[in-house]
Amino acid sequence: MAEFDLIERIRRRAASRDDVLLGIGDDAALLRVPPERHLVVATDTLNAGVHFPGDSAPADIGWKALAVNLSDLAAMGAEPAWCTLSLSLPQADPAWLDGFLDGFLALAERHRVALVGGDTTRGPLSACVTVHGLAEAGRALRRDRARAGDDVWVSGTLGDAAAALAQWRQGGAADPVLRARLDRPTPRLALGRALAGLAHAAIDVSDGLLADLGHVCRASGVGAELDLDALPASPALRGAFAGDALRGLQASGGDDYELCFTAPSAAIDAVQRAAEASGTPVSWIGRIVAGSGVAVFDAEGARWTPPRAGYEHFGAA
Ligand code: ADP
Ligand code: MG
Repeated sequence: MAEFDLIERIRRRAASRDDVLLGIGDDAALLRVPPERHLVVATDTLNAGVHFPGDSAPADIGWKALAVNLSDLAAMGAEPAWCTLSLSLPQADPAWLDGFLDGFLALAERHRVALVGGDTTRGPLSACVTVHGLAEAGRALRRDRARAGDDVWVSGTLGDAAAALAQWRQGGAADPVLRARLDRPTPRLALGRALAGLAHAAIDVSDGLLADLGHVCRASGVGAELDLDALPASPALRGAFAGDALRGLQASGGDDYELCFTAPSAAIDAVQRAAEASGTPVSWIGRIVAGSGVAVFDAEGARWTPPRAGYEHFGAA
């Protein structure tokens, strides 16, 4: 099967939207951007072996390739609109491509994202997605707006995906609930939009809570103090891990794709309403303070340090 046939296979299945003037098939896509809104752009690559286990189903890889990108738009409080897909494939395998598209397009349809272009090449398995979203002018959620006195919140539960990865690395069958959190992350788009104009700062948790909240603190010139017991854990995670292993997964495990955000303490009710309206649970986990760095305290008020730090490419293992 030739490159053209693969692209045609993609084009046939990709849904469009009214604001796509030209989609797949020309040299570039032509999109109508509403004049009063800001264009929000993010890109992320998934490489085989680095970002997903080698035994991942093609549909899960497709889902995740889009999900991690939509998560970035969620963290900006943006509404997704369009995406492009750059695929590198070891061979032109139509069955693999169909599976990939099953996952990718299911998530795209759920959030009304149109696939409007991309690139298809031969090489090691890799999927690079760029998403384009829209935000109300002045209301996008940024990393550099946290203020001392803000509450720190996180959506959903932490550590599930890292737990599944740990189980997979140990060679055991991962708990299916945990494995689903690794393979099919849920981008928190509705929550992100509900928080736009309300939260001070936001980030999506891709590299681990402490690492990602650390980015917010650095960008904002503040520190954070977290309550170890307040970190949310799923029943599945509690069933599989305990003690410091559990805490380490919650604090430093990557791939959660939850939103961590800060909001003024006067906005507690509004935050809870945003969580309810978007059908996304949120937990209060700590406070932004003057200073720098993220400190975690246990129930006795003693400083707690995680067994290992968040994932970093090119970092010392
Ligand atoms: P060009 O050589 O002009 O870049 P290509 O042959 O790479 O053209 O692509 C032809 C059309 O197919 C373009 O509109 C491009 O955006 C689209 N396309 C190529 N690969 C993909 C892909 N993986 N997903 C979606 N669209 C794609
Ligand atoms: Mg091209």
